[in-house]
Amino acid sequence: MIQTIETFLVDVPTIRPHKLSVATMHTQTLVLVRIRCGDGITGWGEATTIGGLSYGEESPESIKTNIDTYFAPLMVGKDATQVAKLMATLRKTIQGNRFAKCAIETALLDAQARRLNVPLSELLGGRVRDALPVAWTLASGVTSQDIAEAEKMLELRRHRIFKLKIGLREVMDDVKHVLAIKRALGERASVRVDVNQAWTESEAVRGIAALEAGGVDLIEQPVKAHNVAALARLKQRFDVAIMADEALHGPDDAMALARADAADVYAVKITQSGGLLPALEVATVARLAGIDLYGGTMLEGGIGTAATAHVCSTFPSLAWDTELFGPLLLTEEVLSEPLVYRDFMLQVPTGPGLGVEIDADKLHALQRR
Ligand SMILES: [Mg+2]
Repeated sequence: MIQTIETFLVDVPTIRPHKLSVATMHTQTLVLVRIRCGDGITGWGEATTIGGLSYGEESPESIKTNIDTYFAPLMVGKDATQVAKLMATLRKTIQGNRFAKCAIETALLDAQARRLNVPLSELLGGRVRDALPVAWTLASGVTSQDIAEAEKMLELRRHRIFKLKIGLREVMDDVKHVLAIKRALGERASVRVDVNQAWTESEAVRGIAALEAGGVDLIEQPVKAHNVAALARLKQRFDVAIMADEALHGPDDAMALARADAADVYAVKITQSGGLLPALEVATVARLAGIDLYGGTMLEGGIGTAATAHVCSTFPSLAWDTELFGPLLLTEEVLSEPLVYRDFMLQVPTGPGLGVEIDADKLHALQRR
């Protein structure tokens, strides 16, 4: 039986300013959910977003309020082992709130997998890989600093895939910045860009042509999320892979984008999908439509990152790897044992449930009051 559902806002400074076209982050606010059950089992979930309301339509504060006010009363006293039934009730009763639903589903599945003494991946169909290649995002905004950061990551054998956040500056200024980095790294690294919807279609045509010619591998969400037709035209026009991210809010969008032949790659995010099971549905639609997969992040801490790792470990194919570096961008760790990054890969935890533990003292010290 579900006894309590608690939510925590945890403000953690980032290791450096993280510049996106929609926001510059100095702090990340983790949204954590703890579900305690009558049999002594505890499950954790996370609903972290980027830049308050600048990326999505749920803020950390609204996620906390909505879980406390609307989700919890529907769940307390219910059978914690009936995860699918509980989630069906929540999805029927509560509109939207995909991030909040994801955190709740993660916590319920974490608890259930601990109860059954299996890693969460085994409740999701079973893993086909134990480690995931992880991209690093270069987002200082300064070309020389980004190159130095990339060189350091290569030397540490932590990352050899680099994603550049662009879209703040004039198109050709951004292109110059990206191609300088690509030239410096050469064939030693994959260089990709995320425009975060910043370009018009004509800007995208100019920008992508130059980036493609310069050896950039992947173009993420160049135009507005709602402009599926423009995304589709860009996909037809260019050979370089085009990835949908903000345009993808779960299985229905995955189906619509597939029908429109609008993307080569889907960035699968558990929060944007509205949960772990909907994220698996997004992946299934992609597989059936011949669309490649990429494991995306909302710069979550250890809980959300572990949850995404379990999901991605089950994909039959993960052609474009992942960007599950969230915890590495933060100055403080909330897990008692940090996730393991080694040889360019994140190791998928092997213990029961998410396979990670929250450090209660650290949480107590960091949580917002
Ligand atoms: Mg993105």
